[in-house]
Amino acid sequence: MKAIVIGGGIGGMSSAIALEKAGIEVEVFEAVQEMKPVGAAISIWPNGVKCLNALGMKEQLRALGGNMAYMAYHDGATGAPLTRFSMAPLVQQVGEYPCPVARAELQAMLIDTFGRERVQFGKRVIQVEETAEGVIATFTDNSQARGDFLIAADGTHSVVREYVLEQKLERRYAGYVNWNGLVTIDERIAPADQWTTFVGDGKRVSLMPVSGNRFYFFFDVPLPKGLPQDRSTVKADLTGYFQGWAEPVQQLIAAINPETTNRVEIHDIEPFSHFVKGRVALLGDAAHSTTPDIGQGGCAAMEDAVVLAATLASHSLGIEDALLRYQARRVERVKDLVLKARKRCEVTHAHDPAITAAWYQSLKSETGERVLAGMCETIEGGPLG
Ligand code: FAD
Repeated sequence: MKAIVIGGGIGGMSSAIALEKAGIEVEVFEAVQEMKPVGAAISIWPNGVKCLNALGMKEQLRALGGNMAYMAYHDGATGAPLTRFSMAPLVQQVGEYPCPVARAELQAMLIDTFGRERVQFGKRVIQVEETAEGVIATFTDNSQARGDFLIAADGTHSVVREYVLEQKLERRYAGYVNWNGLVTIDERIAPADQWTTFVGDGKRVSLMPVSGNRFYFFFDVPLPKGLPQDRSTVKADLTGYFQGWAEPVQQLIAAINPETTNRVEIHDIEPFSHFVKGRVALLGDAAHSTTPDIGQGGCAAMEDAVVLAATLASHSLGIEDALLRYQARRVERVKDLVLKARKRCEVTHAHDPAITAAWYQSLKSETGERVLAGMCETIEGGPLG
């Protein structure tokens, strides 16, 4: 049995590794010549970590992860702590650590685990078709690939999604812009072993430790879509948006490198329930694009990969049937994640300022129990418990 995997991102590479482990021959085709991930880092929550562990990357992943022993919220304007608590109860309950990692390093680990020389870069798919024998993918250079089935992990702008759904879906702007990057840890800004977030006015500034003495940082600001993007004004823009915020936020803005700071307008896609057409299946952001508000988009792609390989490995009613079983096991789970993230996004980014003000207020009495219970529920809903 041979799979064609379209896309060499988190979803594509996780699936390629998982399918190969299940004894399926795999070819991976990636549009770009060189991978340049859109974000600087990513928090892999224990549900995602368990998937990568199962795919044989436990030790490598652990080495890339930062130590997120505590979690804290601060008032953005004054810098005063609102709450701080240990992440140990979460680790204790779910049996694995959260793992914030630099994206480029995660991407390299996945590609190297599969075999860098085996990923076919510069292959942008423009068409897929099914024949009596299987599937054919056609690329912009007019070359073709043939396989028994095709996994489309071609991201949020997926072209294969249109083939599967027989319609084009519009992405939904979530109402805020996110700037993210990496910066050397400076304990005047935040403790090195803590996920620290400053909140106020529907904005947030967050720092998460990753390996190599670095913080993954991000700034969120509710803004209209389509404002000009210019690297030369990143610091001035952030200084303006966070005028009057506490000293650590000003120090962070001073420390960032505009050349390596990404600016992303955050979108999601209304959840849908058809991931499969015949022998073609959508996976990762192609199937479920989410806002990053609960940090689960990439983790969900890892979950997809593990479930996909398991259903194909144990199928006896044919490939189409196995793919439909993959779909059945994933649709409700990922819909739940997308909608949870959307709800979190609305509260965090002041879609209703009164609700957001009440959330800020509630953080003052947060002991960690409520926050961690929500996280544990999300994590334990994954395929590996
Ligand atoms: P992608 O990563 O988009 O990869 C798709 C790949 O397909 C790309 O390499 C692309 O070049 C290739 N491709 C596209 N079109 C074609 C084509 N026609 N032919 C061939 N190849 C093609 N998730 C988390 O789990 N935790 C987080 O903390 C987190 N933080 C985030 C922060 C931000 C700001 C954003 C924007 C997202 C975040 N996410 C997070 C979500 C996560 O980044 C995505 O869910 C994840 O990257 C999806 O992986 P994917 O492989 O499906 O898609």
